[in-house]
Amino acid sequence: MSFLFIYFFSIILSLPLNDDRLSINTIEFKIVKKGNSDRRYIWLHGDEQTAKMALENHMKKSNGTAFYIINELREVSFHEGLIDPNRIFSSYGAKRNIHKYNPQWSVSKKKKLLNSIDKDRKFFLETIFPKNGGLLIALHNNYKGYNIYQEVENSDAISIKDNQNPRDFFLCTNRADFELLAKSPYNVVLQEKLPEKDDGSLSWAALKNQVRYINIETRLGWLSMQKRMLAYIEKTLP
Ligand SMILES: [Zn+2]
Repeated sequence: MSFLFIYFFSIILSLPLNDDRLSINTIEFKIVKKGNSDRRYIWLHGDEQTAKMALENHMKKSNGTAFYIINELREVSFHEGLIDPNRIFSSYGAKRNIHKYNPQWSVSKKKKLLNSIDKDRKFFLETIFPKNGGLLIALHNNYKGYNIYQEVENSDAISIKDNQNPRDFFLCTNRADFELLAKSPYNVVLQEKLPEKDDGSLSWAALKNQVRYINIETRLGWLSMQKRMLAYIEKTLP
């Protein structure tokens, strides 16, 4: 009798807590936490399945907290419209993003939804950012020709390797991390100064909050490359 009571009580308790989810407006993430490491990982674009697989594989062997977007496309459904989940991390970026995908909306609808994203942002970032100088790793894939040369203009230092594809590279925000990654076999750029107009991507929010951030960008489908680059960070960076 008492065993059954505890059993049902634990089921009831586990339901409404829902502490394995995090959201910013309609953009929802699943949280997977392992061990006590403060290392954080995030997968943001639902169509970038290689990045998701690389992260899932990594989390089988490593400790840290991973945030996976719950979505299958690049853009997320947003109040009968769309939004890019990697253009919401500044108010200016979110405003432009809302307008870009939903130009037909009324000014008041755009304003109301921008306000609600602005309100959720602080808690969201506080939850995903590591404390005590930890590292936040984002995983992305490209498939339309995006490459490291398009980041050179915004970068403060670059290390491009002759024998590497320019579509596979690290983008980091911390100079000490850059120095270590420049010695790696992989391409890397450092972006340590905020641009005049922050487009709302997570890298700028990390930089603004003095969080060490690294994006591992690879071609879609190149799973072994993305796994190798992630393992290299795990092995080399504090
Ligand atoms: Zn992406």
